[in-house]
Amino acid sequence: MDRPGIIRKTAADLRLPPNLADYEAQCRAFSWDRARAALQGLPGGGLNIAFEAVDRHAAGPLAGRTALRFVARDAPALELSYGELARQSHRFAQVLRGLGVGKGARLFVLAGRIPELYVAVLGALKQGAVVTPLFSAFGPEPIATRIRLGAGEVLVTTDALYTRKVRAMRAQMPTLRHVLLVAEDGGSTNEPDTLDLAALMAVAPDDAVAISTTADDAALLHFTSGTTGAPKGALHVHGAVVTHHATGRYALDLHPEDRYWCTADPGWVTGMSYGIIAPLLHGVSSLVDREEFDAERWYGLLEQERISVWYTAPTAIRMLMKAGVEAARRHSYPALRFVASVGEPLNPEAVWWGKEALGLPIHDNWWQTETGGIMIANTPAFDIKPGSMGRPLPGIEACIVEHLEAVGEPPRVRIVEQPDVEGELALHAGWPSMFRGYLDNEARYRKCFAGDLYLTGDLARRDADGYYWFVGRADDVIKSAGHLIGPFEVESALMEHAAVAEAGVIGKPDPVLGEMVKAFVSLKAGHTASEALRLDLLAHARKRLGAAVAPKEIAFLATLPRTRSGKIMRRLLKARELGLPEGDTSTLEAGA
Ligand code: ATP
Ligand code: MG
Repeated sequence: MDRPGIIRKTAADLRLPPNLADYEAQCRAFSWDRARAALQGLPGGGLNIAFEAVDRHAAGPLAGRTALRFVARDAPALELSYGELARQSHRFAQVLRGLGVGKGARLFVLAGRIPELYVAVLGALKQGAVVTPLFSAFGPEPIATRIRLGAGEVLVTTDALYTRKVRAMRAQMPTLRHVLLVAEDGGSTNEPDTLDLAALMAVAPDDAVAISTTADDAALLHFTSGTTGAPKGALHVHGAVVTHHATGRYALDLHPEDRYWCTADPGWVTGMSYGIIAPLLHGVSSLVDREEFDAERWYGLLEQERISVWYTAPTAIRMLMKAGVEAARRHSYPALRFVASVGEPLNPEAVWWGKEALGLPIHDNWWQTETGGIMIANTPAFDIKPGSMGRPLPGIEACIVEHLEAVGEPPRVRIVEQPDVEGELALHAGWPSMFRGYLDNEARYRKCFAGDLYLTGDLARRDADGYYWFVGRADDVIKSAGHLIGPFEVESALMEHAAVAEAGVIGKPDPVLGEMVKAFVSLKAGHTASEALRLDLLAHARKRLGAAVAPKEIAFLATLPRTRSGKIMRRLLKARELGLPEGDTSTLEAGA
């Protein structure tokens, strides 16, 4: 379907005065020092993520407000107020203190979206421990590997996950001193070599521990999604809280009365930065759904929980699209005022689908585990160019660079001033949530910088209006007959076809072209693979993209291989196509 290239916003699109209303003026006036001043800071100086997120509010008028509301299919909803969350996280910090776990100790959490996980993360941050979340659906091997790599000293998990996934691997995690177990049935556990968390919490005082972190102290160690290779551990500091706060304000437009839902699991950086930290910093009430994706359930939650700001991911949106627009229209969303997405390129079709299904376009934003927070975004007040990631947020200076040598160390680059040129997306270092290193890989960290420019590994272009357009990951770009082809453009064109639910595009070695564009597609409900459909798709793509860019081959797959955080793994499509080893598949979604 042909659509206009822009979604114009008017005053009628804004339910509340937007936090970012005058882009140029607010970007000019912004400084990270002033953003830091919007937070309280620790009484004796210093900065701590959990203090700003919880304790600050618990000591004021928000103490009684719901911070987190947990819902599950077969259990009553459970709410934790800011006051209660502060007390429980104090208690958890006291538990760690009692165990001699102090500043800098590495603590891992492995659990579903249960209250104890949130309490443990916040309590551990107060005690100065460095927190690493692990996705609860990981198998034993990826869990053990990450704990070993991260030299984990404490693991907080549930009794069921421990017996299924950790117990047999314990010998491979020599640094692990304490395993704190949550009994999934709400009772207690007596598993050998572990501690029962509920019992420890019951006797711990709920007095605040003395917090001694500074902005430069390590706070979080996040493993990347493993989309392009083995996951990397990215280290973040407490100072990141300034970015979390500023981006919650500008990119998510959080207002005090919002009811907010981030669908990302806290096992990934989005679920931590924007599922836990940013909404709490803004004193809003967050929904936490303990269940897995279910289109009907999600629409029901958006409606019944009166969600006003929703942060989700392209993979979820594509799954909702697959279920059909009628499912969305069986509900209504009068409270919903802003929908945002991150994690993968958001096809223009998905942006428009939001308007048709939910009454609101989806606002794409871009960031990475390494950046610690949202860098480039579409925000409520501004026109959307579907397919664009939006513009750099206040405090973020982005640019497009060209490499001066193919392989140089350190890399040498030139900033491309003119618009509409494809190159690597780079950011001027200096925003507070920038990662401070890759775990045990200083050389790789250094390779990410050219002077003060952080090189993202993503290719993009900036248009004359300052909007950034994702082209593809540097590793995924296809070189065909002298053209550089970004898989996103090809995938988006295929997604416009009524039968296509998802598309993943790779370059396949070809003696004449260098690389040939090959697409893998999965179909929407009600469509079946056939030779006629394949030819129709090839013709559609050729019409939309031209012969040089359109795929030469199209294959149908029931589902595309994805990371557990929902990203299409093009490297696996390629490895399978070429019969090459699959490499690290620790983050591959089961059954993919
Ligand atoms: P790995 O680094 O291990 O290969 P990963 O890069 O997928 O995994 P993350 O840090 O979770 O790990 O993801 C960040 C990447 O996701 C970005 O570099 C970019 O390639 C992609 N991404 C995130 N948001 C967007 C977006 N809005 N549009 C396009 N791509 C995006
Ligand atoms: Mg990456």
